[in-house]
Amino acid sequence: MTKKHTISVVVPLLNEEKSLEELYNQLTVVLRKVAVGYELLFVDDGSTDGSLKVLHLLRESDNCVKIISFMRNYGKSAALSAGFEAANGDIVVTIDADLQDNPDEIPGLIEELDQGMDLVSGWKLNRKDPITKTLPSKIFNFVTSLVSGIKLHDFNCGLKAYKKEVVKRVLIYGELHRFIPVLAVWEGFKVSEKRVSHFERKFGRSKYGTKRFLNGFFDLLTVIFITHRSTSPLHFFGRVAVFFLTVGGLINLYFLFQWLAGNGLHVRPVMVGGLIMIVISIQIGFFGLLAELFSSQAEKSFSFREYLIDD
Ligand code: UDP
Ligand code: MG
Repeated sequence: MTKKHTISVVVPLLNEEKSLEELYNQLTVVLRKVAVGYELLFVDDGSTDGSLKVLHLLRESDNCVKIISFMRNYGKSAALSAGFEAANGDIVVTIDADLQDNPDEIPGLIEELDQGMDLVSGWKLNRKDPITKTLPSKIFNFVTSLVSGIKLHDFNCGLKAYKKEVVKRVLIYGELHRFIPVLAVWEGFKVSEKRVSHFERKFGRSKYGTKRFLNGFFDLLTVIFITHRSTSPLHFFGRVAVFFLTVGGLINLYFLFQWLAGNGLHVRPVMVGGLIMIVISIQIGFFGLLAELFSSQAEKSFSFREYLIDD
């Protein structure tokens, strides 16, 4: 592989003091081989162990080591986001700090970028984690692939390579880092995946428990929403409102005819249900209008593949 890229490696980390030095050594060996210039951007996500101290020591002897350190724990998405903003390389690679990802896979990922991809995501075919993680993760990947229509097996792999434009464009917050490939595709970028090796966690423990799966579901809703807003929000909410209005309206029309035909009316559950549906439909309709107002403000930026406007 010819050296032609400047590479920024972004490493989000939370309490990984025992892994950092080994990770640094492995990354350095690989990057010296493949990059014309590189930086190792360690983003300390509010660690309370000695991680920051280890990073300072590494930086003392090597100015390729750059450190961003949060005052408190904001989550992996925030850490990646801060790293993406600071990254200078024309290629950005993300890798977990816990030695579970293999730095030797980086050249392979970059080769796919050279062949025209914008984002290449690792696929941990042989994931070395307990079943309590691998099974929910399989379900997560299956559902995400199903609703997004994007044929990936492993959306949330920590090891990914990006062209710079992707990380400067894709906005991640909350826990949305699990959906980066979906957001990137939606922005028009070309995304593929490549099988990568995976190791067991050597030191420390996983930062994610079972709580993430409920949150993952909410995040999925968010992503479906974000990625479908190419039509306007009102097109979506309007349809829901029309549905409720139609059903509620028909029910009450039926009772109106009953009344006109001289059959006395008494309050019946179905009638109350119909009325509630009409009220709901009005609320949803206005909610859609409100969302429309916000999105008309937000939709002023676009991702360009080319912008050739100078003479
Ligand atoms: N991480 C982080 N902030 C957090 C949680 C995790 O920066 O709030 C980092 C963590 O140090 C690791 C990577 O994100 O480098 C992946 O986390 P972990 O290994 O705990 O996840 P798992 O591999 O168990 O899914
Ligand atoms: Mg891990």
